[in-house]
Amino acid sequence: MNLSVKILLSMLIAAVVGIIMNKFLLDNEFVQSYILGKYGFFDVGGTMFIKALKMLVVPLVFCSLIGGIANMDDMRALGRTSGKAVLLFMVTTIIAIAFALTVATSFGIGEGFDKSTADIVAVTVKDAPSFGQVVINIIPDNILGEMASGNMLAVIFISIVIGISIAHSGKEGERTANFIADFNGVIMSLVNLVMNVAPYGVFCLMAKTFAEQGLEVFIPIFGYFLTVALVLVLHYVGTFSGIFFLARLNPLTFLKKMRDTVLFAFSTASSNATIPITMRTTEERLGVSNSIASFVVPLGATINMNGTAIMQGVATVFVANVYGHDLMFLDYLTIIGMSVLASIGTAGVPGVGLIMLAMVFTQVGLPVEGIALIIGVDRLLDMMRTAVNVTGDAAVTVVVAKSENKLDLAVYNDPNAGKFKAIDLNSHEQDQGQQT
Ligand code: ASP
Repeated sequence: MNLSVKILLSMLIAAVVGIIMNKFLLDNEFVQSYILGKYGFFDVGGTMFIKALKMLVVPLVFCSLIGGIANMDDMRALGRTSGKAVLLFMVTTIIAIAFALTVATSFGIGEGFDKSTADIVAVTVKDAPSFGQVVINIIPDNILGEMASGNMLAVIFISIVIGISIAHSGKEGERTANFIADFNGVIMSLVNLVMNVAPYGVFCLMAKTFAEQGLEVFIPIFGYFLTVALVLVLHYVGTFSGIFFLARLNPLTFLKKMRDTVLFAFSTASSNATIPITMRTTEERLGVSNSIASFVVPLGATINMNGTAIMQGVATVFVANVYGHDLMFLDYLTIIGMSVLASIGTAGVPGVGLIMLAMVFTQVGLPVEGIALIIGVDRLLDMMRTAVNVTGDAAVTVVVAKSENKLDLAVYNDPNAGKFKAIDLNSHEQDQGQQT
């Protein structure tokens, strides 16, 4: 059975188990203490899985990116690659949010919604850092400190400058680059090891989500939920396929090969935690050169959030209609601008979309407590939009690689390239797909 099927099956079983628990066992003390609650079975299993993925992110980005930069024959390529990647990130985000605003407005989403019937809970949303602060924090005052706290933009910066220095350090540089390349291979094996246990980790995460997430929360705002889901699916299929057509690549190949990655993104609701899987897929399954993937994937996970932008567009129109606030043309432009800016300043971790939404609401004069109306269904939408975020990161990575002649078309078109193979812990053989 391949990995996607295993993960899908475990998701399905988890959904059934979770819904049964939510219906019948939520008040049971044993279930609360040992299965559902904090440090219960699901919490322990799910958190360990996410931590196992997260622990790989910084070493993988560090080693892989240093290797990529040190091997770049022309440093100007770095400037070009970043320019193209950032431009494409922005364009896809703008398309995503414009699309969401158009659909939500034409559906009149939120009109006639009686907020007095809603179960309003107080929301406290953390402040997002200002744009200037984000820019300053790209340069670390303590390299290890920034790596320890997982500040991705700083980790990218450190890796780039060390990579450039290695390329200019003669023999010492060569030895260091070789060691880092070897260590990168080792971390990739570790990624495979974690992928082996994914079905179990995913089961715990999903069962917990479904057990906690009663279906009742969907009823009052089903229209909002469906609109976000619809635009996410349309963007996933339409926009990404469009980009691939323009780049003269078969979009179906891309979407098929992204299946495992999408499932990881969906179940963890974190673009950051999914970085190791996205890097593996873009390099080994899709044939992107390491020098592009090692840079564009982590950058995208941090600054590119197509799915989140879609949620923001629909949520803003919904809350504006509920509160009877007319959105003017300038407001729409503000929403688009803020979504792009907000996604640059915030990391791809669960729930961050709501922090960004608070920034958008403040800018267009909507009450932040409006977020309370939609918070009940946000976990499931977070999972869905993270899948779109991660697909957007990978799509831009492939397209930029193609434009730089850094895409191995033989690998891209080979359905079996880099296919995940379960690791047999009793044998010392390596996964052959590793070192592209
Ligand atoms: N969870 C999303 C991500 O990691 C961000 C969000 O929309 O909350 O990409």
